[in-house]
Order: sequence, then C-alpha cells, then structure tokens
Amino acid sequence: MKPLKLLTNSTRHFSVNKPSNYKIVGVFYRGGVHAQEQPKLLGTVENQLGIRKWLEDQGHTFVVTDDKEPPNSTFDKEIVDADIIITTPFHPGYITRDRIAKAKKLKICVTAGIGSDHVDLNAANEKKIGVYEVTGSNVVSVAEHVVMTILNLVRNFVPSHEMVARGDWNVAAVAKNSYDLEGKVVATVGIGRIGERVLRRLKPFECKELLYFDYQQLPSEIEEEIGCRRVESLQEMVSQADVVTINCPLHEGTKGLFDKNLINKMKRGAWLVNTARGSICVAQDVAEALKSGQLSGYGGDVWPYQPAPSNHVWRSMYKLGQQDQGGNAMVPHMSGTSIDAQQRYAAGTKVILENWFQGRKQNHHDVICENGEYASKAYGERQKLVDKIKEFEAYK
Ligand code: NAD
Repeated sequence: MKPLKLLTNSTRHFSVNKPSNYKIVGVFYRGGVHAQEQPKLLGTVENQLGIRKWLEDQGHTFVVTDDKEPPNSTFDKEIVDADIIITTPFHPGYITRDRIAKAKKLKICVTAGIGSDHVDLNAANEKKIGVYEVTGSNVVSVAEHVVMTILNLVRNFVPSHEMVARGDWNVAAVAKNSYDLEGKVVATVGIGRIGERVLRRLKPFECKELLYFDYQQLPSEIEEEIGCRRVESLQEMVSQADVVTINCPLHEGTKGLFDKNLINKMKRGAWLVNTARGSICVAQDVAEALKSGQLSGYGGDVWPYQPAPSNHVWRSMYKLGQQDQGGNAMVPHMSGTSIDAQQRYAAGTKVILENWFQGRKQNHHDVICENGEYASKAYGERQKLVDKIKEFEAYK
C-alpha cells in the first residue's frame, strides 16, 4: 500500500505509514532458559522486546531469529521482503550493502541500543533507508562498565580472582602488577554521552588528569565541572595517558585506529579499554602489545565480529604469556545490555516504530540517517575525521 502524505510544517518529508501490513524482521540473541527465568531479558529471540502483541494487533508480521550468518541464514531469507529490520548491537544482524541490495522493500533499520555501524550507512543513504537508534538508552550501563574495567585492569583483579579460585595463594605474584587509579592520567577518545559519563564517574577517584580527544568540544563550564582537558591531537593525548578508554563510534575514520603505530605512541605499560566497537582496534596488534608489555592490559566487551570465533586472540591473550600478569578483562558484548538498559532500549524501539507508523517526526537524537543523508554528527562529520586521520598519518 502506498503511504499517505501527511501535511507538515517540517522541512523533512514525512508520510503516514499506516494503515498497512508491514513485515518486521528482528535479529536478537537467543535467551533459552535464561529468557524464561528472566522475562525482563527483552533483547532475546524469546522475549522479542515485548512488542510482538503490539505489532500483531496492528496487523503487522513480526519474524524473529538469531540465525544470521550469510549466505543461507533465516535472516538472509527473511530480509528479501522485509519493510523494517530491528537488531541489537549485541547480536548484530549485519546489514551489508549486499543485503541492502536484496532487501528491495526495506524502509527503515532500527538499532535496539546504540551504535549503528552494523548497517552499511552509505548504502542505506543511497537507498534512502532510514536508520534509527535508541540514543542514550544504555550510556549509563556502558559508562559503569568502563569504570569497572579500568579498575579491574589497574588493580589486576581478574588474575587475582583466578588464582584463589584455582586454590593458589601468592600475593606477590598478583600485587606486583596492581596499582591505584588515584594519581593516574585517564583519557577518553570521544566525549559524547558515554565518554562524558565515564569522566564524571572518575572524578572522585582523584586522578592526576582527565583528558579527552574529540572534534566536538565540551562547553567550558562542563570541562570545569568535570575537571577535564581537551587535547588537540590523538597521539599527543595517548602519549600522556596511563589509561585510555575508547568511546567513539565505528566508521571509516575510526576503523583500525588503534593499530601498532598508535599503540606504540601510548605510554609503555598503559591500559586500554574499548567498549565502543572491536574494529576500532587491530586485534593482533593489541595482542602483541600485551605480550610485549607495551600494554599492561586490554579490556572491554566489543569484538570485531560477533559472536567472536572461539579461537579469537582476545579470549586468551595475557601479558608476556603469563596468566598472573593479567591484563585481560574481555567479556562478551554485554555492557549495554544490562536488565535496566534492556527496558530502556525496548521502550525506545517501540517509540521509534510508533513514530514511523504514524508519520511523526523522530526524536532528532535517534536519527542516524534519514532521507538519504547523515543526520548524526557522530557519524556524519566524516570529513573532519578524515582530516584528523590524515594529520595523524603525517605524524606517523
Ligand atoms: P555519542 O554520539 O553521544 O558520542 C560519540 C562521540 O564520539 C561524539 O562526541 C563524536 O564527536 C565522537 N567521535 C566520533 N568520531 C571520533 C573520532 N574519530 N575521534 C574522537 N571522537 C570521535 O555516542 P555514545 O552514546 O557516547 O556512544 C559511543 C559509542 O559507544 C557508540 O557509537 C557505540 O559504538 C558504543 N556503544 C557501545 C555499547 C556497548 O554495549 N558496548 C553501548 C552503547 C554504545
């Protein structure tokens, strides 16, 4: 059915997308027994963001799967006549250029969470497919996880726990690699919603300095309130920091940003935390830096491809190959999918769908791409990023 036009004062073009029978395909992780035990695990195949009845009552079809690996997955089969795709970053249905070409009816992609790099955004723009995410839904969850991971690494928690769990007791072996966070320099790449919350949460730890690198600057009163300082160049910032936390999106300007060249600009023995996206770091370069002692630790929850293969180097890398030296605080992609976060991103997904069905303007924070254009500065200001990267390349 052709959408009816809605008269609006907005400069953007909106249509009433109702009434119609849309096919919505959801790609989520499988919850199994856990989804039964915890009905608030909304981001699962079983609990389906709690929106099945709501969608079906309106006459829509909702197909949900966790089977997403190309080329013959359920996702590949269902995408062909899908109007809407919903997926979470935790078990992403990668919406590649190839898949977009096959999805002839696709109108919008909704990320139940934050981070829409699993969609080929340039390809989506070419086809004027809208891309929306539930901005802000899990920023607190991730910021808390970042602070936890920093403390885990700096205090050498994981190997210390593993030692007692296996029945050993050797204080010296784990204490020799355990420090205080107080007095250290912590730096974030990206001072958006998560980056800012991380620095705010670190303030009471009395770090020596809190630094950030971003082409968007915080207002000076916020910088003062947090007690942080902007550093103009990324390599200069990482060379000053004891701990670096990555909190920027994955796009052409950040893919492979932390390679051996940049990691070698970091202070020897620094800690690196990445809860943004796995592909911002070069996996093998991180593992080698940990082994050589260039990094004392690496931690986070994001992997270059998810689910990560069982032999991925980040699962078992340790400093100098010795377990008690620690340095590995990797977990599956979970920081932004706490039970609290799931309620927020499920509710936010419903709002995005409802707005779209009704032809209403979306909350502008949730819009990544619309009408063939980037709407979000975080992804859209690529030229500035490319310039920054060129500056960096020249420095290398
Ligand atoms: P945000 O849009 O509020 O902030 C992103 C910031 O990064 C912006 O200030 C932007 O200017 C900056 N930026 C972009 N490119 C940069 C670059 N090359 N160098 C420095 N800064 C750059 O987003 P947010 O809510 O803070 O989330 C940030 C990212 O964290 C998301 O894009 C997503 O990939 C990731 N994330 C992960 C999880 C998780 O569960 N692990 C959950 C939510 C978000």
